Amino acid sequence: MPELPEVEVTRLSFADRIRGAEVTAVRVGKPLRWPLGVDPDQIVAQKVGPVTRRGKYLWLPLERGGLLLHLGMSGSLSFAHEPAAPGPHDHFDLVTANGTLRLTDPRRFGAVVWSPAIDAGAAAKLLAGLGVEPFDPAFTGAHLYEALRRRRVAVKTALLGGDIVVGAGNIYACEALFEAGIDPRTPSHRISRPRADRLAAAVRATLARAVELGGSTLRDFRDAHGAAGEFQLAARVYGRAGEKCLRCEGTVRRIVQGGRASFFCPGCQRR
Ligand SMILES: [Zn+2]
Repeated sequence: MPELPEVEVTRLSFADRIRGAEVTAVRVGKPLRWPLGVDPDQIVAQKVGPVTRRGKYLWLPLERGGLLLHLGMSGSLSFAHEPAAPGPHDHFDLVTANGTLRLTDPRRFGAVVWSPAIDAGAAAKLLAGLGVEPFDPAFTGAHLYEALRRRRVAVKTALLGGDIVVGAGNIYACEALFEAGIDPRTPSHRISRPRADRLAAAVRATLARAVELGGSTLRDFRDAHGAAGEFQLAARVYGRAGEKCLRCEGTVRRIVQGGRASFFCPGCQRR
């Protein structure tokens, strides 16, 4: 499933090239998770503005309204001057003067939804309830501490919820908790302010590293797919059950929390 860093790298892969381009045609394939919500012809002849990201959504502003995109479970975006003829999994083409933005999505949980503005209509509904952005200055230790203080679930479960901060998916939550030295089972309300400070910094650093890693491989798939599955994040704890901890003499353990695998070191991650 594409996570926030992949979505951000996807955005970086085409945002500059599509900006200012006029839409010349729209091709809609099989139904996606939600309907487009507008006659495709209404989008034609409009210019694309600066593409932004909110959580795992991308917002493509047009002169009148805009498109909210989500990659779902298996979606990827490509941007090419002369794309191949649409295949069976290509369900949306936004043809512009600068190239064609194409959504390829075998499982069709992705979506392209028209909205009158990012903070109105369909976009406002879909984005409601999202936590703060990890790279936003509003995401501080104080913010995290206040939000965790009111929750009794395990800290990892709270991070995965996405309503405190977006982007801390399973791998990134495990890595950030390792970096902050916090046991993923720790009840949220027991996290002290200094530990919340460390955790907020770790979440931000883990996601920033993933974006950087993805960005460095960007040129390899520039004209192919913006999101080529999950990045080879140099995981320090995730997926390393039974192996020696990289920081202490402990052994990495795997447990299941809320149906998701958690990897941690009982030696240096404390409750
Ligand atoms: Zn350790």
